Amino acid sequence: MALTGMDIYKLLPKKNCKECGFPTCLAFAMKLAQGGVEAEKCPYMSEDAKTRLSEATAPPMRTVKFGAGDRCYSLGGETVLFRHEKTFVNRTRFAVAFSDTMSDEEIQSKIEHMNTVDYIRISEEMYVEIAAVECKSGNKDTFLSLIKRVKDGCKKAVPMIITSDPEIAKAAVEECKELGPILFGANEQNYEAMVNLAKQYNLLLGVTAPDQEKLYELVQKIQNLGYRELLLSTESTSLKQVFDDVVNIRRTALVSQDRTFGYPTVVFANKLAKEKMMQLAIATLFVEKYGSVIVLDDIDYSLALPLFALRQNIYTDPQRPMKVEQGLYKIGSADENAPLLVTVDFALTYFIVSGEVERSKVPAWVLIPDAGGYSVLTAWAAGKLSGKTIAKAVKDFTVEEKLKTREIIIPGKVAVLKADIEDELPGWKVVVGPEEAALLPKFLRDYTDK
Ligand code: SF4
Repeated sequence: MALTGMDIYKLLPKKNCKECGFPTCLAFAMKLAQGGVEAEKCPYMSEDAKTRLSEATAPPMRTVKFGAGDRCYSLGGETVLFRHEKTFVNRTRFAVAFSDTMSDEEIQSKIEHMNTVDYIRISEEMYVEIAAVECKSGNKDTFLSLIKRVKDGCKKAVPMIITSDPEIAKAAVEECKELGPILFGANEQNYEAMVNLAKQYNLLLGVTAPDQEKLYELVQKIQNLGYRELLLSTESTSLKQVFDDVVNIRRTALVSQDRTFGYPTVVFANKLAKEKMMQLAIATLFVEKYGSVIVLDDIDYSLALPLFALRQNIYTDPQRPMKVEQGLYKIGSADENAPLLVTVDFALTYFIVSGEVERSKVPAWVLIPDAGGYSVLTAWAAGKLSGKTIAKAVKDFTVEEKLKTREIIIPGKVAVLKADIEDELPGWKVVVGPEEAALLPKFLRDYTDK
């Protein structure tokens, strides 16, 4: 349970020396209890007090990591039940399921699908982060050859090794340890051996039990062994029960502040439904409530586009506008004579506009001024998109040196800016573009044909 200000005060040296920046130890304790200052600010605290405080003031849900190098991912660390209260911090990661009883063709097809679904949406690269490889055959060599194949074939995914056999698990970890795999399969029977293995290789350990109660007891035993890099799952097989499990685990951690359940969860959507669109529906449910890893049978764009877009929306900080970098963007093979458009730095607007310019097949430049991360009309109404901001962007990004054109196409919705921009940019002509981005392809073709 969280410590109160008075609990913390009892652990302090009570010198009232002010070196922490607070007038008294009591004032420091009260601020620490609110999470407004770090315990390290007091240089006189004993090591024991520091340990107790860092445990007590740590977030109730642990942030855990898996992967290696540029494929390193965080899970958990959430502080609120509902995204609108603050923000969710560590996004859901998606996995595709493999097993060593699948045919060669099926394995190859899944690998190809995983490599194909890889695209950028609003500055974020979207792909499947995990290959969930399960040992069903019970044969170590068969399983190792699957891991090798997945490791060599999947360009970006980190393996999640699924087995409850510690000996097979050890061999599998050895096969792909450089990728920082997840080890999934600690249960009531094998947890000591699996914890030792996870400790030895510093791995995220997946823990599973038949129901919430048994999972809670098992996590307590694992914590008593000193291991806290955990990912939780029950063996429930109905959607209703899995939903109840996942929500209760999160509520126990965040509402009851009980760190026994303060870990992320994995949901096997592939085991809750066979039909692809039903798996998609289940996965969308757990992106919102509270699956940190969601395992699917397979992936293609009909699953990836809605799932990744939903994830991006849910895990975007609602208090921060989604912005793209200001600058001069080249679309297609634009040269110094290509047309120049201007729009705002609100990410969604930029990607819609640049997508339509690409669709027009007319090479062009898109200038992005500092418009506060707002949409076109909001930026204009807030004074963020004006003759001055556009002229400043023309200057900052040396447009006059890079391009021969002295015409700039503005969004039709802010046609009112035409005179303002021409005042700020002597020698330039402002062309009013369409009001809707969808009309840009025709507009650009007509513009270049004139
Ligand atoms: Fe008290 Fe430590 Fe702050 Fe000094 S630095 S006032 S001992 S809390």
